[in-house]
Amino acid sequence: MEDHKTRVEGLAVRVKQFHKDGIPFRLYHGSTNSTRPSVRSLTGSLDVSHMNHVISIDEQSLTCLVEPNVPMDALVDAALEHGLIPPVIPEFPGITVGGSFAGTAGESSSFRHGLFDTTVDWCDVILADGRMTRASKTENPDLFEGMKGTFGTLGVGVLFEVKLLRATKYVELSYQSVSRSITEAKALIHDACRRPAGEVDFVDGIMFSKQNGVVITGKFIDSNEDGLPITTFHKPWDDWHYLHAQNIMHRELSRQKAFPEKPATSSVHQELVPLKSYLFRYDRGAFWTGSYAYDYFITPFNRITRYMLDPFMHTRVMYHALHRSGMMEQFIIQDMALPWLNIEKFYDWVDAEFRIYPQWLCPLNGYGAGGGLNPHGDRDEGLNGKEGMMLNIGVWGPCPGEPVATNRAIEAKLRELRGMKWLYAQTFYSEEEFWSIYDRKAYDGLRAKYNATTLPNVYDKVGDSRKNRGKGLTGIWSVWPLAGIYGLLSCIKGGDYLRKAKD
Ligand SMILES: Cc1cc2nc3c(=O)[nH]c(=O)nc-3n(C[C@H](O)[C@H](O)[C@H](O)COP(=O)(O)OP(=O)(O)OC[C@H]3O[C@@H](n4cnc5c(N)ncnc54)[C@H](O)[C@@H]3O)c2cc1C
Repeated sequence: MEDHKTRVEGLAVRVKQFHKDGIPFRLYHGSTNSTRPSVRSLTGSLDVSHMNHVISIDEQSLTCLVEPNVPMDALVDAALEHGLIPPVIPEFPGITVGGSFAGTAGESSSFRHGLFDTTVDWCDVILADGRMTRASKTENPDLFEGMKGTFGTLGVGVLFEVKLLRATKYVELSYQSVSRSITEAKALIHDACRRPAGEVDFVDGIMFSKQNGVVITGKFIDSNEDGLPITTFHKPWDDWHYLHAQNIMHRELSRQKAFPEKPATSSVHQELVPLKSYLFRYDRGAFWTGSYAYDYFITPFNRITRYMLDPFMHTRVMYHALHRSGMMEQFIIQDMALPWLNIEKFYDWVDAEFRIYPQWLCPLNGYGAGGGLNPHGDRDEGLNGKEGMMLNIGVWGPCPGEPVATNRAIEAKLRELRGMKWLYAQTFYSEEEFWSIYDRKAYDGLRAKYNATTLPNVYDKVGDSRKNRGKGLTGIWSVWPLAGIYGLLSCIKGGDYLRKAKD
């Protein structure tokens, strides 16, 4: 803890200096899972990459104290040593505690526990003027809520108390195939989400086409009493998780065709997956987006090439390549949460307009992008269903049209259907539009109260990615396949991929 205090004091001195000099600094911690182009510079960013320690784990209170740059895989490893895990663990191992708290992060247990930020009891914050304070439900509660989902624009979180749960050895997965529509998937998800903890602990789904998909539920389990097959997703020879799920779906749909009289429920595929392999099951291939790299380099996409290129197909490396190549500008990478009643309308519209598959489905408990960035008056329980449930739809794929126009169309549709997008991705709102969605008065009030007005505001950081478009590779380097090769070589070289030497 003493070392931690020293690290924090060093950062507070630096923040004080930024404040004195009026520098609107940004945070740098060595990596990102955001897909917005980075505008960080060496001189204009606060480096918190050394804040990567799990300070303590308390088996009695089921909590841990962690610094912000602890990535999810390190947090899981540390907690598992005590037979514990955090309730919400974003699917990519490099996502950090600080980024998850301030940048919105959810996953397949979020139908029960909400976003990652709901699992934090309190955090220590360096305010923008260098003062230290603590934020929790009882101490500076407005700051605590405000820090969530406001992308570090109120202060810097330097220590977090995160809740923990008892871990088990495996997760037992059940795959239910969807053969008709998103409505069928929605019903299966809804049913799973209503079942008690211990029976269903994880829920997500993948749609492979307008009609077909798979809903995957998981439960914590310690022993393999039923002798189920054990599957892993972390070894180079393992199937990527979505391909495995797709194979199961195809088998089941063929069976249904051959034996239409047999009920689908009799053939739910079940297996056990070791806990950590389950938690980071989408790491290899970044769900399925890794397959687009094979398309880009005109490389066969099969088990052998996946095995051979495995070192490049983990999300940490893929994010490095994405940022260096600037290729996020050619893709739609959006996670969007829709109120339960409007899911079909949105899904059908995306199908008609873009036909991008697969799509990820992830139910989320509650509504909101974190307390600090409240959408205006949209907390409509009636519309979201009794439980305030939302469905996250992940649409990630090559952009079928002009990227800005395509993203703008999605943003407009979301507004019409009272959905929201997660701002880790690229956004293209005008300032007026942005603040017609989010409550500026409340947000600005917090910034003034906590002396944070010297920091970039949330619109400056995440409101309009056009400002930073094309700041990546230019000229010949931006042309196929040089941009991809450049990204690849940069991964091999390693090092900092987010900061420029000068402002
Ligand atoms: C439902 C849902 C599903 C998602 N699924 C995925 C997924 O499967 N894969 C994926 O990659 N992403 C996913 N995301 C998004 C991802 O969780 C966020 O982008 C997350 O913020 C990434 O964490 P990071 O550590 O890379 O953060 P960064 O990108 O580094 O930071 C995010 C923001 O938080 C700020 N920040 C970081 N540390 C601190 C701190 N200590 N104090 C204050 N501010 C800080 C940064 O300045 C930045 O603005 C999902 C989000 C949602 C809501």
